[in-house]
Amino acid sequence: MRDTGRRAALLAALMSVLACGPSNGEARTEAQAGAPGIGDTDFPTDGNGGYDVAHYALKLGYTPASKQLDGEATIRATATMPLSRFNLDLKGLTVSGIWVDGAAATFTRAGDELTVVPARPLSRGVPFTARVAYSGVPEPVRDSTNLGTYGFVPTPDGAFVACEPNGAKTWFPGNDHPADKAAFDFEITVPEGVTALANGEMRGEPRTTGGRTTFRWRETHPMTTYLATATIGKFRLKKGTTAGGIPNLAAVDPKFDGTLDKFHKVSGEITDYWSTVFGRYPFGSTGGVVDDFSAGYALENQTKPIYGGFEPDDGIIAHELAHQWFGNSLSIKRWKDLWLNEGFATYAEWLWSEHKGGRTADQIFAAYHARPATDPIWAYPPGRARPADLFNESVYSRGGMTLHALREAVGDRTFFTLLKTWAAEHRYGSVTTEQFVALAERLSGKQLDPLFDAWLFQPRRPA
Ligand SMILES: [Zn+2]
Repeated sequence: MRDTGRRAALLAALMSVLACGPSNGEARTEAQAGAPGIGDTDFPTDGNGGYDVAHYALKLGYTPASKQLDGEATIRATATMPLSRFNLDLKGLTVSGIWVDGAAATFTRAGDELTVVPARPLSRGVPFTARVAYSGVPEPVRDSTNLGTYGFVPTPDGAFVACEPNGAKTWFPGNDHPADKAAFDFEITVPEGVTALANGEMRGEPRTTGGRTTFRWRETHPMTTYLATATIGKFRLKKGTTAGGIPNLAAVDPKFDGTLDKFHKVSGEITDYWSTVFGRYPFGSTGGVVDDFSAGYALENQTKPIYGGFEPDDGIIAHELAHQWFGNSLSIKRWKDLWLNEGFATYAEWLWSEHKGGRTADQIFAAYHARPATDPIWAYPPGRARPADLFNESVYSRGGMTLHALREAVGDRTFFTLLKTWAAEHRYGSVTTEQFVALAERLSGKQLDPLFDAWLFQPRRPA
């Protein structure tokens, strides 16, 4: 994601992080409760333990006038331990029933944790299907420390849906942490005249009956929950294919009507250019969505980056499309490694500027490096993003500087081979900073610990 300045004003209060973990002393061979968190110590209740999701099928009905969401989520997963019960993340909304492998399950709720007790315990390594029926008026997350307002955000004509870091729980039950990626199917029914945009590609033509239209979308590639979207509203669409052959769909709120052709064209050009720099485009389509909700940020929703309330310039489009490789195809296992997303996407903006004959990456790097030693980006080591200040500028610009310092140290040839190799070796996977450092050392044959330590982990300006 990238903010547009407004969010910086919100970085004020501190978030208290609740320590929470199960200590279950029962026999190891008996079914146990799955943990209420996936194991990210910075976000202890995000995601859940004990299972791995393969697929979400989300059947949604939404009425903008009443903000009423009616949902049915069918989750295919595999138990990674014998489970007597397991948790899903869900914020607000009313659950009317849950079935596991077709049998009614009991459930309880506490905060954003939905605990499901199947009629029979689940065996380790065995796939299961949980179906959850739910409804209500979604409440977005309003977080003064990180993103501001995110999740499923009702708008006058529909909804703006951007969920980083943990807002998927505002509109569907799931394992809401990037460490558990899954494929998605969407079936979204809205009033006639309204469009529903989700990830991946549209399946068939929208079907209208009785004044309501159903849109079906499918993302077959693994996707983190925070990249899922069901953005709804009045949109003008432009379809096509990039010069490189990638299906390209742009959608803009009527307020941005005059920008549609250019937005579509630039998104296609940049996708093709990144394919030459980072390697083959990882997904089935590209494009983007410009909605009129003034979010103050853009988010790299998989295959459909979303821009909240402004006409994006090519720099921010370059950023969000670079995330399709770095953040989406390769996603982080834990939030503290966020520079692997944001430092890369920021550096991509510099590469784009250089490509277009603007300032070179070297000039941009030099301008940042010239900031005084008292500048806040030097006090915040970007290699360890802080949960209460996840999207700090350092994670972006000092993260980007880290890559430029690396490029200087290993040379252009090795550096650009490294970017492609990183994207190819971990395509659709989950990554850590340690893995990136190891690959950089392997490809360059250099000992790079001092460089990464100075740029990523020290609270001072590197020399
Ligand atoms: Zn970003």
